[in-house]
Amino acid sequence: MRHHTLILAHLLVLWVACGQPAAEAMTEDPQTMAVPLRYDLSIVIEPKEGEARVRARVTIRNPGISPISSISLLLYRLSSVESLTVPGSEASFSDQLVGLREFPNFQFRRLQVSPREPVRPGQAIVLDIKYTIALRGYAEVLPYLKDSIDPGYTLFRPETAYYPLVGGNRWAEYLAAQAQPVDYTLSVDAPAGLAVASGGRRLESGPVGERVIHRFASRGKSSRMDIAVAPFEQVEQEGLLVHVLPGHAAGARRLAVQLGAARHYFQSRLGDVAGGEFQVIEVPAGFGSQAGDGYLLQESAAFTDAASLHELFHELAHGWRISTSSDLARTRWFDEAVATYLELGATRALQGDEAATALANGLRARFAKVLSKRPELGGASFREYGTLELGDASYSKGAWSLLVMEQLMGEAAVDQVLRGLLARDKVASFDALEDEVRARCRGVCDAFLRDWFGNGKASTEFMLGRESAAELAERYRRTSSTDQASHRAVFPQPLATQPAAQP
Ligand SMILES: [Zn+2]
Repeated sequence: MRHHTLILAHLLVLWVACGQPAAEAMTEDPQTMAVPLRYDLSIVIEPKEGEARVRARVTIRNPGISPISSISLLLYRLSSVESLTVPGSEASFSDQLVGLREFPNFQFRRLQVSPREPVRPGQAIVLDIKYTIALRGYAEVLPYLKDSIDPGYTLFRPETAYYPLVGGNRWAEYLAAQAQPVDYTLSVDAPAGLAVASGGRRLESGPVGERVIHRFASRGKSSRMDIAVAPFEQVEQEGLLVHVLPGHAAGARRLAVQLGAARHYFQSRLGDVAGGEFQVIEVPAGFGSQAGDGYLLQESAAFTDAASLHELFHELAHGWRISTSSDLARTRWFDEAVATYLELGATRALQGDEAATALANGLRARFAKVLSKRPELGGASFREYGTLELGDASYSKGAWSLLVMEQLMGEAAVDQVLRGLLARDKVASFDALEDEVRARCRGVCDAFLRDWFGNGKASTEFMLGRESAAELAERYRRTSSTDQASHRAVFPQPLATQPAAQP
């Protein structure tokens, strides 16, 4: 997620900057909200007109314990709904232009659907929605959300709600609606001569007169549905499929070699990721790069800029995705701490120690910067990052927690811990993580777990200090037979209180 999603990251910054309290956004009991299980989208694109006709069949389930009589959907603001039906039943709906409560200028059509019979707990229903969409982006709210329907480059990303997001107009609902893992099928009908790229598994496509219908399906549950339509060329190399704009094929080949090497590195540590082929889809400059399941949307600049290669390693690392509950996902540890740690590993393996150390030091500076704005970060544990909206620090302190763990236990043991969390049939938690660590560290990890995964004060001091991960690990080894008393002996000084910096 997103730079799990860049857009997400920028939105979070926007949100923090607006000073919205986190609690306010989640006042609606999630048990009363429907969740999407599956999307079947059929899109007919008319690039010259800047429009598309869409039929979206959305399978929605009631996961709660009480019936749901009304379902809220968000749809791109410049959409016009032709019909909304519930096959086999009847439904009425209202259609209203609304802003997100926290950002009134971020506007959507809100469809409020009332099936004749309430949706019973555990029951699923299908909403069949036909609409036209004139996609013009959201550049007035988010400069990089430039998605539009255009003969030169058409892009549909979930952030625009080009398909109906299941949720209301609160910020947290908008985010949760996009992150919901779903199965999907996509059918994209576009003029012949334009290629269609999507992160999904490609099914057969067929020409129909002057047009071609391109079909895709999800590779397992997917949290994004991206569609790019452009005169792409395809470059296939090192198990990667790169969709590039004309003239960029040479850069794409160089990129594929580097990404292929990073991919081998991740595979050697964590095993193969489900889905096989990995895709990179070029987006124009200024659109923002993002990671999906098994693919990247990547701005052109990275095709030629070696200095930003580590960002691609990071996005690629998101392919090894740990499943967790939605409240723990908001801590960003299980995605961003892990991806950033893997990014540092690939950078060290492929670009050398110096490059990796520079990045790790940059993360310390990033942590200090967040701390200066959010003093409560100092004592917060990773477990609290979600409710406190401190997920940004998972990129920095979260990654460092793994760097220190690696020095303490060895890389192979960290890989086993991560493989344990990655196991497909498991939902990861901090308890599971601590169990995985304890099972492999022969008693030297209690103080480490307390400092890094308990109360955040000691690890905050370490982040603000200058000791390397190896030196920090050495502290724990020196006290490997620790009890509370010897732990205190390692940290004899009261922890300094971090002064709040001026904004
Ligand atoms: Zn990320």
